[in-house]
Amino acid sequence: MLLGVIADDLTGATDVALMLSREGMRVVQTVGVPTASTQFPDADAVVVAMKSRTNPPNEAVEWSLVACDALLQAGAQQILFKYCSTFDSTSKGNIGPVIDALMQRLGAPYTIACPAFPANGRSVFQGHLFVGASLLSDSPMKDHPLTPMKDSNLVRVLQPQTTLPVGLVSFATVENGSDAVRQAFEALAANGAAIGVADAVTNDHLRVLGNAFAGQKLLTGGSGIAIGLPDNFRKAGLLLEKSDKDNFIAPIGHSAILAGSCSAATRGQIADAKAKGIETFEIDPIELAEGRLSASIVLQWATPRLGGKPVLIYSTAEPDIVRSIQQRYGRDEAGAMVEHLLGEVAIGLAELGVTRLVVAGGETSGAVVSALGVSMLEIGPEIDPGVPWTLAADGNPMALALKSGNFGALDFFTKSLEML
Ligand code: ADP
Repeated sequence: MLLGVIADDLTGATDVALMLSREGMRVVQTVGVPTASTQFPDADAVVVAMKSRTNPPNEAVEWSLVACDALLQAGAQQILFKYCSTFDSTSKGNIGPVIDALMQRLGAPYTIACPAFPANGRSVFQGHLFVGASLLSDSPMKDHPLTPMKDSNLVRVLQPQTTLPVGLVSFATVENGSDAVRQAFEALAANGAAIGVADAVTNDHLRVLGNAFAGQKLLTGGSGIAIGLPDNFRKAGLLLEKSDKDNFIAPIGHSAILAGSCSAATRGQIADAKAKGIETFEIDPIELAEGRLSASIVLQWATPRLGGKPVLIYSTAEPDIVRSIQQRYGRDEAGAMVEHLLGEVAIGLAELGVTRLVVAGGETSGAVVSALGVSMLEIGPEIDPGVPWTLAADGNPMALALKSGNFGALDFFTKSLEML
């Protein structure tokens, strides 16, 4: 193993795994915190997918250190801590504490924080994160159910989360190439700033940044920051050839879509699927909380509809409805309640012969995969930027497309299943 990646949610892990696979690494993604007995399969890169983004910081730190130790023990030469390209973190913030702990464990004098992912419209300029042409704080992320992002200045967002000083490595430096970037980080470290938020607007910038970190123990960022890392290993003679991908064969069976994301993209994708005649079941969290809705009711609805077009089951709602549900039941409690139901529905669908499942939502995907008892995913073909089909490498045969809320084109639900 050359590279070990610790990802703070499942769809983010898939996304970085895909990035590394595209750059010629053999990649396996494992789900959940590894244990001392976890046997990592033979691969150039192993991506450990955790579900730690919104957990208490001490839990996120503990799990990240366990994952880091397991990856190092399996031979990883470099560690990448992967978080969301919209820098999702709660007000207590898990990104900073995890960076602090990993830097200490790895003895890193400095590290980078760069969530830029130009292919998905995320860029960082003068430390400010943009989603398309909008500042993060003007984007739909300001209404996220669990991690609303109301400040676009990443130096300002990260500083209260860490005990280490945070600085900026700006666009002008990145334009000057890897040596300039390396010197800028060394200068930051000499002046006491140990974490540098780095600007990146294009993939070339990300390659420059990745190249500047060749041989360093730790990087942190979105999937984009991984783009230059395979080449570092190739230049060092450690990664010789691009590996051939296996043909992806989805198991024969029924198709279904589960959506727990309330993102603007997912709302559009649901409307598009409905317009195409896909039958839908809307989960009302109030009925769920009051005991009038259960997984068996959803499955009774789905059973006669399986076998034709995919069925779509969703809890997705507009921001004002989500807010009123959260006020009534609590933000985390409402989230957990819906995630639990969708997990139970996934188990039931698998028992009914569904072998092709599309899931919308990062936290939702984590809940569904964990309910299905899947702990390892082989990376398959890309559906839309950052979202591949995957095959469950354990548990029942199942093809899974796990989509972070904001990802995917308008026709993602129908297109993904038609690909199979
Ligand atoms: P995304 O990838 O868009 O961030 P996630 O699945 O990570 O999506 O997060 C969405 C959260 O919102 C989940 O915890 C989900 O259970 C919760 N949720 C889904 N529908 C509703 C709803 N109608 N009201 C309140 N919370 C909801």
